[in-house]
Amino acid sequence: MATRVDPTLLKELKKYGAVGVEKCFNCGNCTAICPLTSDEYAFPRNMIRMVQIGHTERMSQSLDPWLCYYCGDCSETCPKGAEPGETMMAARRWLTAQYDWTGLAGKFYTSKAWEFGSMILLAILVVLAFVFFSGPMVTESVELNTFAPLHVVHMADWIMAGFLLLFIGGNILTMYKKVMLSGNQTATPLSIYISEAWQLIVHGLTQKEWDTCIEEDVENKEMTQERIARITHLLLVSGYGLMLVMIIFFLSWFQTDNIYPLYHPQRWLGYYATIVLLWGAGYALWGRAKKAIQAHRFSHASDWIFPVLLFAVALTGILLHIFRYMGLPLPTYYIYIIHMAFTAPMLILEVPFGKWAHLYYRPLAIYFKAVKVREEEHNRELAGALAAAD
Ligand code: SF4
Ligand code: SF4
Repeated sequence: MATRVDPTLLKELKKYGAVGVEKCFNCGNCTAICPLTSDEYAFPRNMIRMVQIGHTERMSQSLDPWLCYYCGDCSETCPKGAEPGETMMAARRWLTAQYDWTGLAGKFYTSKAWEFGSMILLAILVVLAFVFFSGPMVTESVELNTFAPLHVVHMADWIMAGFLLLFIGGNILTMYKKVMLSGNQTATPLSIYISEAWQLIVHGLTQKEWDTCIEEDVENKEMTQERIARITHLLLVSGYGLMLVMIIFFLSWFQTDNIYPLYHPQRWLGYYATIVLLWGAGYALWGRAKKAIQAHRFSHASDWIFPVLLFAVALTGILLHIFRYMGLPLPTYYIYIIHMAFTAPMLILEVPFGKWAHLYYRPLAIYFKAVKVREEEHNRELAGALAAAD
């Protein structure tokens, strides 16, 4: 089957943050040094080649960008400064847009007006929701649940969770069709999907492939920074996941006018989530400002927006906690509105359409890769058995 060539692909990928792709002369050093490449998935050179010659369709079906953890070794080794690591990063953003059935991810990644405009619009909607649906502001004491009735906030949470499921589910389905169904002559047996499902869980929870990228060398400062980045990312994911679970499933336990004693688990879970979010977001912002590791040398607008939102959510969460415990009613209510105005775009825009999407696309890609490898083994075993029977 003839492959259509798209001469605009390189130009398009630049909008998603690719730099220096045209300098590549295909020496292959980057693939030789990459700790995560394999014979079947020989990146990043093949990805750069696909961009150079405009293989849009093949690229949209590729798993390679998600298998890269951006250690930056390839970019450091490239003799032409073609920045292959950043091309892989740009390809991940581009793929996120390709999977997105709403078309919003592409608009957010390529237009600051769309990205900032949507965030501001969502924040305004949150403020308007408080104007029209909030309860009275009791000023004699802090009564947050009177101002923001639990059942109303809970209903809003479930509506948001429904939208997230709709967006994320649809996007994952598109990814699955592109990666697993296009060009496939035979359907992969369900038993293979089931037998490899553990990969999805393990890689989703631990991101353990990242460790392959990190050499244990305490003498080397760059490597130590990578290790810190890895641990920080893991903590950040745990804090974000914890916050999401508490908001959606345990809101009545979490948003309460009761002041629990210091040893109560509700307080410690909240403190843990807030501290790791603040640390993770602060570390990402500091790293990008200092360009301390290779992965932070180039920053797309989306790389800044997510940690800024996270930092704002954690900071306003801390202020909310302080005002509540100090018994300051009006500051508590106003900071709650501001906290929600940052939280809504962080969850509704970043999880399905933005930087956060890599947290489910990457383990899914590792899972799909494992399924494909297992299927090939299965086919070889079948062919061997048939040949032996002849
Ligand atoms: S990106 Fe650099 S190292 Fe990789 S093939 Fe191109 S020129 Fe060689
Ligand atoms: S950034 Fe690291 S993992 Fe990604 S392609 Fe380059 S060498 Fe491989």
